[in-house]
Amino acid sequence: MAASVRVRKDDQVVVICGRDAGKQGKVLSVDPDKGKVVVEKIHMIKRHTKPSARNQQGGILEYEAPIQISNVMVVCSSCAKGTRVGIKVLADGRKMRVCRRCGESVDSK
Ligand SMILES: [Zn+2]
Repeated sequence: MAASVRVRKDDQVVVICGRDAGKQGKVLSVDPDKGKVVVEKIHMIKRHTKPSARNQQGGILEYEAPIQISNVMVVCSSCAKGTRVGIKVLADGRKMRVCRRCGESVDSK
């Protein structure tokens, strides 16, 4: 697994570039192989659909498109800002993700 993938499902992240820069959202899914994440309400894509058996009305469907993991930063709940995430190894060998600004854990408790 790539060391840079430190974003996990349910993390709060901030987008750092692209048209949604500055927006925050919750991570809905992570695809480490492709290096992409899907973030709630970020990078919404509209798809026009024709009426079908599944969607009888057709129309415009909006959904989140995956974005590059490198375009988001985990938001530290202590700093309330996007931060780089470090890994701290605890005395019992468990690894904890920590904020590089304040050293607080960014793992959901
Ligand atoms: Zn912090």
